[in-house]
Amino acid sequence: MEVIKYKSTRGGQKSVSASQAILKGLADDGGLFMPEKFPKFDFKFKELMWKGYKEVAYEVMKLLLCDYTEEELKDCIDKAYDDKFDTKEIAPLVKADGVYFLELFHGDTIAFKDMALSILPHLLTTAAKKNGIKNKIVILTATSGDTGKAAMSGFCDVEGTGIIVFYPKDGVSHVQRLQMVTQKGDNTDVVAIHGNFDDAQSGVKKIFADKDFAKKLDENGIQLSSANSINIGRLVPQIAYYVYAYLKLLDNGDVEDGEKINVCVPTGNFGNILAAYIAKQMGLPVNKLICASNENKVLFDFFENGVYDRNRKFILTSSPSMDILISSNLERLIYLSCGSDGEYVKKLMKELATDGKYTVTPAMKDFMKDFVGGYADEGQNFAGIKSLYDSTGYIIDTHTGVAFSVYQHYKDVTKDMTSTVIASTASPYKFADSVLEAILGKKQKMGDFEVIDKLHEIGAPDIPRAILEIKDAPVRHTRECDSADMQKEVEDILFNNRR
Ligand SMILES: *Cc1c(COP(=O)(O)O)cnc(C)c1O
Repeated sequence: MEVIKYKSTRGGQKSVSASQAILKGLADDGGLFMPEKFPKFDFKFKELMWKGYKEVAYEVMKLLLCDYTEEELKDCIDKAYDDKFDTKEIAPLVKADGVYFLELFHGDTIAFKDMALSILPHLLTTAAKKNGIKNKIVILTATSGDTGKAAMSGFCDVEGTGIIVFYPKDGVSHVQRLQMVTQKGDNTDVVAIHGNFDDAQSGVKKIFADKDFAKKLDENGIQLSSANSINIGRLVPQIAYYVYAYLKLLDNGDVEDGEKINVCVPTGNFGNILAAYIAKQMGLPVNKLICASNENKVLFDFFENGVYDRNRKFILTSSPSMDILISSNLERLIYLSCGSDGEYVKKLMKELATDGKYTVTPAMKDFMKDFVGGYADEGQNFAGIKSLYDSTGYIIDTHTGVAFSVYQHYKDVTKDMTSTVIASTASPYKFADSVLEAILGKKQKMGDFEVIDKLHEIGAPDIPRAILEIKDAPVRHTRECDSADMQKEVEDILFNNRR
């Protein structure tokens, strides 16, 4: 098997192994790690068709995480995809209204982030062991609502690690906030910042880039890593479920072996859909990658005209995990589209930092023609959720709703009848308020847990453990800070507040 190494999208880092890339999170030059090439799947879909999720995950991940031994990787996979998930299938595929919903929300925190964040802590601690790291690894994470909880849940009381999560104080749903502030574990900290997700993400990146701070931490036996989707350890596990979905379609006789499918993904930081793109590069028969945005439609505009422009109002929507104007992982696609020219990526990213925008060349735009951008406003999103419920009884969350609405529009316009998988990224219970408003036609005057009972009453499946858990859980985290003071907050947590 070919050994895949990783290099930075900004060209300034010598190749590192998969485990080193996972440990570092972000490359030294501020770029993101990318595999030097995409290995091809070395299995036949028909051979894997009856296999369980873990076996499929292993066959996919081993191709990219080459310096993990079979035993190490299987051990990580076993620890990740166990009974934390409420179904043995891990990622069930549900057909409704002629489209396939890949339910990625059956893990601990009922959002798709669990798919990668339940394995990342194991990949990371294994990587530390392999590379002889003695430092404590502290995960710094910015969250638009779901990553934070899923990462804390994964790292909670994992020996040799700590985790600090920053979330936008007014930018998450009630359930998302409660899930975070009630997080258990002696090694977890949560900080609400006075700003939006982009402020949180930029703040974290700045801390990562501060060499002096890294030195100070090292002197104290600490090093930082990231659980955001900039970490390749997040991206690789996400490739597996697209393969798994294809195998299910094949097994059910819904597609022929080799027949292409479309994938439609509700997108924020561009991690999930990039994983689908990489799956395609590795040999998954994918036709179009439909990139669905909410009213923060930077990506839609980008795929339309080749200009990435974040100079616009940041809109708070009912799909908060997609309220993002700087989609970090797009840098990886940019890198591929310019023939892996790190210098060119550096130039564009500098323009993004200084002017808030950049323009790609016609050749780069052409390279991205597998992607189709679309967006749904709040009205379209709610109407889609309602129409799906009315015609099938199936209830989707507000993020999946954006994708469903965008897909409906795409199909109407293009008449493309290719079988399509929609990444269903959260349980409707996580955004019960908005989902209920969509289905019942108006905002319900009810308490936060009454809406959950009501959602169950109108046909949502059993109330997940993740919701029951937070009902009476005590609030453990009350820290807040301005986005300019994030580093100070980290220092306070690590040095003054010895856990
Ligand atoms: C994070 C998230 C998204 C966006 O995923 P990206 O990989 O950031 O594009 C969509 N829906 C939900 C529910 C999420 O938590």
